[in-house]
Parts: sequence; C-alpha cells; structure tokens
Amino acid sequence: MTAGKPSASAKVKPYDVSRLGPMPPYHGPPLGAHVSTVGGVAQAPARADLIGATAMQIFTKTPNQWKEPIINEVTASAFRAALATSGVQFTNSHDSYLINLASPDPTIRDRSIDSFSREVERCNILHLDALVSHPGNFINDRASGIARNADGITQALEKHSGPTRLLMEGTAGQGTVIGSTFEELADLLNQVPAALRARIGICLDTCHLYSAGYDLVNDFAGVWTRFDDILGLDRLGCLHLNDSKTPFGSHKDRHELIGDGSIGKGPFANIINEARLGHVPKVLETPKGDDMVTNDRKMLRMLRGFADGNG
Ligand SMILES: [Zn+2]
Ligand SMILES: [Zn+2]
Repeated sequence: MTAGKPSASAKVKPYDVSRLGPMPPYHGPPLGAHVSTVGGVAQAPARADLIGATAMQIFTKTPNQWKEPIINEVTASAFRAALATSGVQFTNSHDSYLINLASPDPTIRDRSIDSFSREVERCNILHLDALVSHPGNFINDRASGIARNADGITQALEKHSGPTRLLMEGTAGQGTVIGSTFEELADLLNQVPAALRARIGICLDTCHLYSAGYDLVNDFAGVWTRFDDILGLDRLGCLHLNDSKTPFGSHKDRHELIGDGSIGKGPFANIINEARLGHVPKVLETPKGDDMVTNDRKMLRMLRGFADGNG
C-alpha cells in the first residue's frame, strides 16, 4: 500500500458519526479498512467500530523505520480484550515498507529477514489472522530474486509459528518488484517448502491488479477465473479495495477513493456480490483525508450499499 495510512501524529477528532448517515445492513464476509494504532495496538478495535469496520488492518510497527517494537503478553492481552468487545471479525497486519527479502545485497537482505521474522512473531503474539507482505525487488536478476524472496519467507516461517497466516500481496509491477502476475506469485509460493506453504496465501489489491494489467473493468469474471486456474481461490485470504489514481496497465501503485479513480464503482459493486469471493475479507487502504473516520466510513457505507438487496 502507498496511501491511506494515517500519519503517526494523526488523532481522531471529535465528530458526530450520525451526520455521516446510517450504515446499510451487510451480511457478507468481514469488510473494513486500515486502522491507526496511535496510542497502542489496543486502541485500534474501537477505531474500527467508529467506521463500521468488521475487518481491520494495522501496522505492528512504524512501517518506514527499522526500529522493532516488542509486543509483550500484557499488550497482546489488552489488544485481544479490546478486539473481543468490538465488531471486528478479521484482523491483519501489513509489513514494513523497508523489508526487501529479494535484495541481492547481503546486508539489506539479512536486515530484511530479521525485520520480517519479527513481523511474523508480533502477528502471532497478537493472534492476528493474517500478515500481508509485499514481495521484494529483485534488483539484478528476476529468477534469483524470487529464490531469495522465497528463502527469506522460509527462514521467517521456520523461526516463528503460530495462528497467523502469511498472505503475499500481488504488486503493480513497478521497477523490479516481484509478484505482479499470478504466475509469478505461484512461482514464489512453490519455492517455499510444502510444509510451510500451507501457512501461506495470497492478498490481492484492486489498484495493483488494474495497474498490473488485470482488467477488472472489462473482464471482471475473467480475472477471477485466471486467478482460480493459476493459484486457486481457496488461497485468496484477503482483498485490498482501492481505486487507482493511474490508468489501466500503468504499473503504478497510487490508491484513490472508491469511485474517484480509473476503476470506478462498477467493479467494486461486483466484488461485493461475487459469490466466488464470498469467503474473502476485504480491507480499504484509501486516502484518509482530514480525519481517520469520515472517508473510511463513507467508503464502507458505499460498499455495503452495493450488496444485492440494498440497491
Ligand atoms: Zn498499494
Ligand atoms: Zn494493498
């Protein structure tokens, strides 16, 4: 993701949720957004409730710094208690932007493997359902980059086991980034030993898909059929719902509010009602705007309104 994260200094401003209108009924799989952990991870579930989210993505650290916080059992218990009293049914973390498990530079790669292992460890301590991770940049050679990325994943999963499922996220394909095609994601997963592969799934992001050349606008059904053929829909553990600021096939990763970008509302209404995606939690990473509530609540209200029977 490259947008939609609140800055570390962002605070929830006082506001009246009712002025944003009631949330339409929704009986589908968990549907939510990336939520701030300012003040501690235990603050996040209440923020999810404010926007009407039943799925919640967080960072377990500041994503653009190498500093690795330790989450102890006290913090984890407080988080799980807050979660239990919230409406959140699905939780995931997104890993740091600095991690590049595919790097040919041994120093960067060692640092990345250590940082990624700690991401896995924190998610397991918090009992998050999933950790979403961007494949790395191969820099020099694609095939060896994929092998390095798979080896980094293997090392981290061997070191830390627990309830959290790793979801490798499809990318937009900018520069030397790995994972912008279903075939390459399959290649990456297949290089992880089978016993560990059972703990790995896929996260797809609508903005990345569209930028990578998967035409959600004109070939909606075909995109999911191709995914099913190559990776299997049972592997799809999460969808990131973002419109795109850039045109089809741009290979850029620039998130936009749903309906304001090059994808438009249609494919998102289709996603909400697509039976083949009926098991998949869905998470917004769209721009937050002035506060951490208004835009997300509007987006979730719109998405719920797309559900058959609400129109
Ligand atoms: Zn993104
Ligand atoms: Zn994403």
